[in-house]
Amino acid sequence: MPRLILVLLDGLHAAAADARMGFMAALVENGDAVRHTLSCALPPLSRPLYATLLTGRAPAELGIFRNDDARLCPAPTLFHHAREAGLVTAAAAYYWFSELCNRAPFVPERDRLTLDPSLPISHGLFYRRDDYPDEELFGDAEALYRRFSPHLLLVHSMNIDNAGHLSGGDSAAYRQAAREADGLLARHVPRWLAEGCALCVTSDHGMHPDGWHDDLVDEVRRVPLWFLGDAWRAPLAALGRPPRQTDLAALCRALLLRRESRAS
Ligand SMILES: [Zn+2]
Repeated sequence: MPRLILVLLDGLHAAAADARMGFMAALVENGDAVRHTLSCALPPLSRPLYATLLTGRAPAELGIFRNDDARLCPAPTLFHHAREAGLVTAAAAYYWFSELCNRAPFVPERDRLTLDPSLPISHGLFYRRDDYPDEELFGDAEALYRRFSPHLLLVHSMNIDNAGHLSGGDSAAYRQAAREADGLLARHVPRWLAEGCALCVTSDHGMHPDGWHDDLVDEVRRVPLWFLGDAWRAPLAALGRPPRQTDLAALCRALLLRRESRAS
């Protein structure tokens, strides 16, 4: 069964990924993952970059420049394309993903638990607090994975970004949040890979030592990207150059649709 798991570690800058994430480095060293560094699109804010990651279009193309711009994404997202292809979709993610893909504004009593095949994200567990524990978030994702066997699953954690805002991007708290995310990946990723999933692990933007991410500096703009799984070979070969952040949606779409057509 074709499956793609997209893991988005919010607010993780490339230097922290390189220095604090031993599990992911071990996968790269063993040839089980390919690591790239991206320069994020602008502005380096979460909601605009969520839209970029899901559509492949820069925030300026989409007209989404602000975090408080709660509306549906004006272009089809990866989830829209997956549903059109008849694939099963799911997300354990911050509620802005529900607003971009499903319904805006977010209504907690209606949307926190989403089970509706007519929606682009058909199965969702959406949280609203930036300190929602990453461990619980990965548990939510695992529950969706086990219960609904999605072809496309988004796993979106927020604790690295939250630690950066509270203590800065060069703080013990930020470094520890990155280590803990790596530990959660070590707990879940080996099984997902063993069950035939392809994974993409990345971040939207980085974090400045001052505790914000609106600056045009490497700590903010440089983010990591890992590809895990043999299924990435064909889409990456077809791209023929190092990927950009605006390439991710098309790469994910190519992987999903290629694998689906092969399975059918
Ligand atoms: Zn943030």
